[in-house]
Amino acid sequence: MNRPIPGTVEVSVRHILSDRTTGFLTRTRTITWKDNIYRVRRPAAGKESVELTCPVCDASLLAEVRTQSRTRRTGVALLILAAVSVAVFLAALGYVIHEGGRTLPEGQSLPTLFPVSVVSVFVTFVAAPVLFLRGRRYNGVTLLDAPKPRRLHGIMPVRR
Ligand SMILES: [Zn+2]
Repeated sequence: MNRPIPGTVEVSVRHILSDRTTGFLTRTRTITWKDNIYRVRRPAAGKESVELTCPVCDASLLAEVRTQSRTRRTGVALLILAAVSVAVFLAALGYVIHEGGRTLPEGQSLPTLFPVSVVSVFVTFVAAPVLFLRGRRYNGVTLLDAPKPRRLHGIMPVRR
């Protein structure tokens, strides 16, 4: 029943009912939605636009679908970028700890590479998990256009 059919992809079309963030120090985001699963046919080459209808408000959403091989390549590329981010993070962190722990002679300032490394540590710390999750979940289907407000709708990969 839930077997993948070659040349097609299942997506969940979501209509966001409410999106609330509560709490001050520990913020909790509560999103509720209603969704409908659609099976979308992948194009033989390049990319194709498909129109999906929202199950709640009948709004028509325009999505772009890519081929299976292109989807796989993009997913792998995102995972490689995630791995590179982890490597940069570790290298920059090691450098910051090494350089920051040294006592500098009077009048000598830290090399320019130091602030660059500090920024790299923060950027890659955020980027690595995002890239990893994107790469793992990438299904080649992206929302192109939806009626305003656009935040009301989303197209999500269906996890198996
Ligand atoms: Zn809707």
